[in-house]
Amino acid sequence: MPAHFFRRSFAKLLEATEQPFAQPVRDLAVSQMVFGRTVLVGEAAFVLRPHTAAAAAKAAADGMMLGLALRDGNDNLAENLRRFETPQMQMGLHLRDYGVRVGNRSQFRVDNPGQREVDGRAVKLIGRYGTLRNDRVIP
Ligand SMILES: Cc1cc2nc3c(=O)[nH]c(=O)nc-3n(C[C@H](O)[C@H](O)[C@H](O)COP(=O)(O)OP(=O)(O)OC[C@H]3O[C@@H](n4cnc5c(N)ncnc54)[C@H](O)[C@@H]3O)c2cc1C
Repeated sequence: MPAHFFRRSFAKLLEATEQPFAQPVRDLAVSQMVFGRTVLVGEAAFVLRPHTAAAAAKAAADGMMLGLALRDGNDNLAENLRRFETPQMQMGLHLRDYGVRVGNRSQFRVDNPGQREVDGRAVKLIGRYGTLRNDRVIP
């Protein structure tokens, strides 16, 4: 399907929306998941961008890996938690970086000559309803 199809569709969708709003997407990544006997899992540790389509699976994996590390570990809790933390941190950071990379490519890539035109059109459409402030369209 040609790219301009999506652009026109998106413009029509926006025009047909009575009260458009923007949903901010923010990145969150902790630098450690284990704090003594306290462990951060799922979105308490990493908020991944939606297009990674991996957030729920990552949250579940954190829980499963924590369970396995505790079940199969030894008497040293700190060591068991370290064995859980190292690969889960790597996976979380990898998915965070992947989300940022894919987002940047689709939003800001310079090899797409139509992108500037599309962005301009979106700004004009939003301008018809008001200004964009604090992620909301203010009339
Ligand atoms: C609109 C939307 C769409 C999404 N779509 C997708 C998708 O398509 N694919 C995907 O992979 N991910 C998706 N996600 C992300 C996904 O939902 C989360 O990554 C995932 O649910 C995180 O799991 P979690 O267990 O860390 O947190 P949550 O699922 O948020 O669970 C946290 C739980 O803790 C409870 N809680 C909070 N505070 C307390 C407290 N003080 N005491 C007791 N309980 C408490 C909450 O009620 C909640 O039940 C989406 C998220 C949103 C918001």
